Amino acid sequence: MSNSKIWLSSPHMGGNEQNYIKEAFDTNWVAPLGPNVTGFEKDLEEYLNQDVFVGALSSGTAAIHLGLIMLGVKAGDEVICQSMTFSASANPILYLGATPVFIDSEPSTWNICPNALEDAIKDRISKGKKPKAIIAVHLYGMPFKVNEIRQIADAYEIPILEDSAEALGSTYKGQKCGTFGDISVLSFNGNKIITTSGGGAIVTKTKILKEKAVFLATQARDNAPHYQHSEIGYNYRMSNICAGIGRGQMEVLDQHVNKRRSMHDFYKTVFSNTEEVEVFSEQNEDFYSNHWLSSILINTDENSGKTREDLRLLLDNENIESRPLWKPMHLQPIFNTAPYYGGTISEKIFEKGLCLPSGSNLDEFDRERIKNSLKKFLSFF
Ligand SMILES: *Cc1c(COP(=O)(O)O)cnc(C)c1O
Repeated sequence: MSNSKIWLSSPHMGGNEQNYIKEAFDTNWVAPLGPNVTGFEKDLEEYLNQDVFVGALSSGTAAIHLGLIMLGVKAGDEVICQSMTFSASANPILYLGATPVFIDSEPSTWNICPNALEDAIKDRISKGKKPKAIIAVHLYGMPFKVNEIRQIADAYEIPILEDSAEALGSTYKGQKCGTFGDISVLSFNGNKIITTSGGGAIVTKTKILKEKAVFLATQARDNAPHYQHSEIGYNYRMSNICAGIGRGQMEVLDQHVNKRRSMHDFYKTVFSNTEEVEVFSEQNEDFYSNHWLSSILINTDENSGKTREDLRLLLDNENIESRPLWKPMHLQPIFNTAPYYGGTISEKIFEKGLCLPSGSNLDEFDRERIKNSLKKFLSFF
């Protein structure tokens, strides 16, 4: 018990999830549609509070795939994507036979760098191809520089696909993340701030776009009594069982945000006297992160015996999970021929960064164990 595994981010049920699932069984809505799906979508629309429309899907990756299709991305097109992210942000570009163009991060949010973005757009246009979309990500819940990125996107008339998979509950200038894109995407995978065991959502500005997403997600059936298809369809809708979990999770989302933010405060305190360790935090009040994962940068040199890998191994030895940051996409073998714009910021962040246990279900005993292990590490300084 005392040495049980402390996970980075594990599912945390609120208590009401099983009631919604029971209701689904009792009424035999065991299908990829039903009252929980409709209810979960409504809960999300109210939570996002920006007159948006939500379509519940089988995963965040599916939402990105459909989002790109609806933005008109086709084989041979180019799509701009933040390099420092999870591969699911970029893989759907390849599903469509399009080419990703990766962009470096900027140091304050770790997200897409406005300068490198504009350089890339200008250069791609000069080479004869205007990018079809910009995929911007709120990494670890930290909002990207929304105003700057929106200004550039509008100046060149390129739509933004906002990957808010990690940022449900975060805000920028008081507005919820997940409402800034021409199309936005959420994820409810098992490790996210709320989960449906697996699932995602597409967020649109109009009802017509939402209906289009749901149409594509349910095999693109034309309006006819027989099965008639004039477009490629997908089987991407969320099941009514999963949506039941989602409805229960929505009741505790704000609590989860507060708990994750308090984990971030906890790490700020633990590292408050250590110059070499930087806890990734909001640069000013415009940015409000859900701190989905609390992350640190360890600014020491390779031979010091106190790098992020040294800390990861020390924690692992005490049965505490931690993980390096997302390895930038332009450094991944699968994307090694893709164009890249920027310098070495994301690469350096990756080399120095570590995600620490951040779950909303971590208790005082977990914190004590984490703190003791971190103190051990700090005693090497
Ligand atoms: C989790 C995640 C996704 C994919 O969501 P799934 O629901 O797991 O398919 C996409 N982008 C980012 C940044 C993520 O963290």
